[in-house]
Amino acid sequence: MSNLMSNYYPLEVTFAKGRGCWLTDTSGHEYLDALSGIGVVNLGHSHPTITKSIVDQSKKLLHTSNVYRIANQEKLATRLCNLANMDKVFFSNSGAEANEAAIKIARLYARSKNIQNPIVLTANKGFHGRTMATLSATGQSKVQEGFSPLMSEFVHVDFDDIDAINKYSSNKDVVAVMLEPVQGEAGVIIPHVDYLNKVKSLCEQNEWLYILDEVQAGMGRTGKLFAHQYNKITPDILCLAKGLGNGVPIGACLAKGKAAEMLIPGTHGSTFGGNPLVTGVASSVLDVFESELILDNVLKMSQYFESEFKSKTMDFNVVKELRIKGLMIGIGLDDSIIDCSMLTQKALDDKLLINITGNSIRLLPPLIISKKEIDILINKIIKLIRI
Ligand code: PLP
Repeated sequence: MSNLMSNYYPLEVTFAKGRGCWLTDTSGHEYLDALSGIGVVNLGHSHPTITKSIVDQSKKLLHTSNVYRIANQEKLATRLCNLANMDKVFFSNSGAEANEAAIKIARLYARSKNIQNPIVLTANKGFHGRTMATLSATGQSKVQEGFSPLMSEFVHVDFDDIDAINKYSSNKDVVAVMLEPVQGEAGVIIPHVDYLNKVKSLCEQNEWLYILDEVQAGMGRTGKLFAHQYNKITPDILCLAKGLGNGVPIGACLAKGKAAEMLIPGTHGSTFGGNPLVTGVASSVLDVFESELILDNVLKMSQYFESEFKSKTMDFNVVKELRIKGLMIGIGLDDSIIDCSMLTQKALDDKLLINITGNSIRLLPPLIISKKEIDILINKIIKLIRI
């Protein structure tokens, strides 16, 4: 019995340390981490550059306040804006808070257009966080159950269905569309290649803000630094978190054009948001992306995983499909053949960390994973699903 509230139901394992793609439990057993703390520790555990950055910065200064200028924050903001072709950044502590900032910007944008009851279109099965606004935006009833009244402005449409969004073109109350470029919590759902471009066109035509939640798909996970860069588009708002800090809590809401001008003094804030420690570490994360050519590794390992997995599971009836974009991987299983609810524990017993969403295995391995580790991963998955 612990004194923790019962909102989590942790597996019976406690980790004491980690290195690269491997975690060691308190009894000394090693596990292959194919989840990265749900897409967070993208550069692997105990990355020396990140550790050094944390140590060096903590010797100098951890926290002041956003009442004062913060050099690390300004430096990181400039770097992120250059990388994402955006104008301004608000730093938060989490993905949900980055999305909250985006939703507040959408509200102020509505006011600027004299719209009193704004509508934000979001996707069924999408996930945007656990705060009241972001769970209202989330398109999963299991996340919302028990928390009504929800915020009423979110209208959910089917993901990857451009007509479902187009239907709202004549609705004067719509102010924004908020989407994940690849749906993560839904089990890695990848839309058609031009879906995001078509949404961009509709947003431009209707003067809607285009909000992309790249909390999970961003920071190199799909093989580009930002997933929407495959589509050569720029959203009005881009939300990041998870991999941005490689384990230190940081989120970012980037905005462009009109959207970047909405937050004025007094309209939003956060005590911890963007403090010298986390923004210093996030800059080091970007350094490592450059110095270790992380994106190249993601693309190479993605191709390797895809070809090896497909060739080795060709005659497995239990595998319905492989959905893969970079190292964001969903393996759809036939639940009439296999009981998916047992798989997380079974994988743990075999010293493998994975996640199950619905009938899919979700893998988010560290982006530094090697071929040898992919081989181990695939062999363990095969062992897991072989009937
Ligand atoms: N948005 C997406 C796409 C996510 O995957 C998540 C978390 O899984 C969130 C938002 C919420 O982020 P956080 O848990 O950091 O608040």
